[in-house]
Amino acid sequence: MSLYTLRVMRFRRIAEYFLHLIWPSSCEICGRIGANPCENCQREIIRREIEASNARSFARIFTGDIITRHFENVTVYSSLFHHDPSVKKVIHMFKEEGRKEIGHPLGVCMAKSFGETEADYIIPAPLRMNSERKYNQTLELARGMCDYWGVELLDVSKRTRERPHQMSLGGRERRNNIAPDDFMFTRDIRGLRVALVDDVCTTGYTLIAFSEACRLAGAEVICAYTLSSTTRV
Ligand SMILES: [Zn+2]
Repeated sequence: MSLYTLRVMRFRRIAEYFLHLIWPSSCEICGRIGANPCENCQREIIRREIEASNARSFARIFTGDIITRHFENVTVYSSLFHHDPSVKKVIHMFKEEGRKEIGHPLGVCMAKSFGETEADYIIPAPLRMNSERKYNQTLELARGMCDYWGVELLDVSKRTRERPHQMSLGGRERRNNIAPDDFMFTRDIRGLRVALVDDVCTTGYTLIAFSEACRLAGAEVICAYTLSSTTRV
């Protein structure tokens, strides 16, 4: 910021102050003297509007049809079919283009289509240790779901070792590429009724191992939720 801009800003603030003496105005949201709404609140309003408009546009791809898959130790509910063209586009935006801000509205849409949850806590699947991603997209989904349901988010799980990406492996190798001890917990989860969240359900192996890890740590796993599933049944 140049000295000139700083001076202009200071001048503007002083001018606003004197204006306030003559014609008092303050931000109706946070009460700060000056403009209404103030710069901070204006920014927050814009951010929320973007989130809400994202949520509205994503709502169209959520038909309310839930894909239910029963695995050996966990039932997984998915809100979207992964290979629908419109779904693919959104998932690409979210995962590959790193559009972190769409995670929360997507999570809200997910929770809406699942209806209610019997879980008291949501635990998002942790990022792989050697992941090239800068943020855990699953955590963003979980935030949206927790806000909608009013349940507590427990971001308490970590991976314990590096593993190759499931996508790079064949069927049997994928099964052996993940085990319950690949997960650890940063707090005591004994006795908690939890639901797990992941972005995509492909073979189910990650969620099978993750829910086993939660059980071994003493939690009651109600079910798992994913944004999309690669199969319909
Ligand atoms: Zn304000």
